[in-house]
Amino acid sequence: MRILIVEDEESLALRIKEILSSEKYQSEVAFDGESGLEKVLMEEYDLVILDRLLPGIDGISILKEIRQAKLSVPVLLLTVKNRVEDKVAGLDAGADDYLTKPFAIPELLARVRTLLRRTSDARSAIITVGDLEVNTSTHEVTRQSKLISLTSKEYAILEFLLYNKNRVLSRLSIAEHVWGDNFDLFTMTNFVDVHIKNLRKKIDPVNGKSIIQTVRGVGYMIRDRA
Ligand code: CA
Repeated sequence: MRILIVEDEESLALRIKEILSSEKYQSEVAFDGESGLEKVLMEEYDLVILDRLLPGIDGISILKEIRQAKLSVPVLLLTVKNRVEDKVAGLDAGADDYLTKPFAIPELLARVRTLLRRTSDARSAIITVGDLEVNTSTHEVTRQSKLISLTSKEYAILEFLLYNKNRVLSRLSIAEHVWGDNFDLFTMTNFVDVHIKNLRKKIDPVNGKSIIQTVRGVGYMIRDRA
């Protein structure tokens, strides 16, 4: 679990880092908004603890940038003022929770644990690409919140592409994953094409661009950013 702390009060930032490391969480510190934002956009974190008041770019603007970049990393906003409008602004901008300074250590840790659990649950079960959502524990597939019914093979292909998103999968590797090596090469790879065609009919909008890209001569892929 990697946590980013964006906090300009150095002593507080380092104290939070120390508390987190005593709980076996790995964390990094950014002492200003600019470098904080850069880190969030460049690296992968499981949680961001973000101070509301920062020199340069303030917490709310960073939060907006994070959500605009479609990053779903949970954000715990630290705020000094216990004012309702601050909380509303924070939650509106996409904060998952907020904590008013000064706060007690157990309170901080409780928030951190909850937010991290939410991420790991979500990570294991739900995969989303654009408006397509796949729940890998219930096998429910929705696009634009509409439930789509897939055959077990279609589902298996879709899930396999999603688990390997942004990578091209050959027809052979898809076939082997879904059918094992029970068929000959020619039959298998043709099966893949037929199933992809059916899958596209079900999951893609009518006359719209397919979420599954054909990579000529190689295979298929789903990109994170369409
Ligand atoms: Ca501050």
